[in-house]
Amino acid sequence: MSFNNLGLSEALLKSVREKGYTKPSDIQKEAIPEILKGKDILAGAQTGTGKTAAFALPLLNILQNASSKRRRIRVLVLVPTRELASQVGESFREYGSNLRFKTSILYGGVSINTQIDKLRKGIDIVVATPGRLLDHLNQKTVNLSELETFVLDEADRMLDMGFIRDIKKILKYLPEEKQNLLFSATFPKEILSLADSLLNSPKRIQVRSNNSTADKVIQAVYPVDKSRKRELLAHCIKEERWFQVLVFSRTKHGANKLAQQLKKEGINADALHGNKSQSQRTRALQDFKDAKTQVLVATDIAARGIDINLLPQVVNFDLPYVPEDYIHRIGRTARAGQEGKAISLVSADEHKLLFDIEKLLKSAIPREIIDGFEPEQNLKTEAPKSRPNRRKRPPRSSRKAQKSRSSKSSEQSNTSKARPSWRKKRNKSNTAKNRHSS
Ligand code: AMP
Repeated sequence: MSFNNLGLSEALLKSVREKGYTKPSDIQKEAIPEILKGKDILAGAQTGTGKTAAFALPLLNILQNASSKRRRIRVLVLVPTRELASQVGESFREYGSNLRFKTSILYGGVSINTQIDKLRKGIDIVVATPGRLLDHLNQKTVNLSELETFVLDEADRMLDMGFIRDIKKILKYLPEEKQNLLFSATFPKEILSLADSLLNSPKRIQVRSNNSTADKVIQAVYPVDKSRKRELLAHCIKEERWFQVLVFSRTKHGANKLAQQLKKEGINADALHGNKSQSQRTRALQDFKDAKTQVLVATDIAARGIDINLLPQVVNFDLPYVPEDYIHRIGRTARAGQEGKAISLVSADEHKLLFDIEKLLKSAIPREIIDGFEPEQNLKTEAPKSRPNRRKRPPRSSRKAQKSRSSKSSEQSNTSKARPSWRKKRNKSNTAKNRHSS
């Protein structure tokens, strides 16, 4: 199928050609015609599937076809993070570059007055994070009473980040009659109940199952002692000539420290996390996208949904507490059909976290021991005894306790469900391939 058959205007088809897209992705094929018909959508789609264009293109088309061109906010897209807001807003600007609509991107950490000035001049599309949008709504500097379409993007992440109450508050400002589109990678019950109250006979679209990973991500676990993780990372970056590596760290402090240590070793590294000012975050991301920075060490929240062209390498310096975050993390690479590698440096105390991830993936990730980094404390291959609570992220104060609990349970483990293959890594070229398809 080609983009020409989806019902999009010539101006939008021109933008699609300018972007170099030759054929629509699955979510685009399914969602574009339905959105053009004005239907509500409940879509199960992860980032990397082309979901932004799946809603931006038809919404621009609807705006273009409307008889009244008077500027008022007609489309609102809510996203969980500032980076995603920038990215989605930019996508609207790019896809709409042959049209005359104006997009405003509203998020915190930057001057609200500049945003107010722009809003006063007239805007058609708003892409916002919940907190800053609520500030504007409270100050009455944004008027959503004539909204025609509401898009809730990455709804499950909104839930994880505690935004559900803010979303419910925002919904009260929106007109009852409107088109609603909800995108989520997973559907925990809170999201299903939100969808139930928001959507009107939605078209249900599922392009990839909840626990599948990007088709082309080559995954591997490098077992290593905790104290040698940084050394191993630097070794791999240098020896395996990793360039443009996105490294995930569980904590902001850990991200900073690791970036500094890598710099000391002569590796061009930067950190991206929520404690940085917005201008620092924007610059760190832009430098990385422009390949001016070789290694970007990021926390999950800061890196959520970010799209970096042809990112070849993702590294989990720490495993995430929430197994679904592993899928989101590795989805940063191998986007839009490209190949990519996701390497996890895993120490013995992370055995339970790894087990939870493999259980979610329904397969074991191949282990590769790097010569010279053989762990003294072996990473167990068996299931831990206790049943993990997968969705709840432990509160900050109890994370230390969780860590020690997890290492304890790894020692008590008994059953063997995910028994991975152990292999000794001999040279650069034998990276194990573990492809998951949907
Ligand atoms: P998204 O899932 O919206 O974050 O998009 C992931 C990446 O896929 C972005 O870099 C898009 O520019 C790219 N993309 C979206 N649609 C297509 C398409 N039809 N063909 C090729 N790349 C695409």
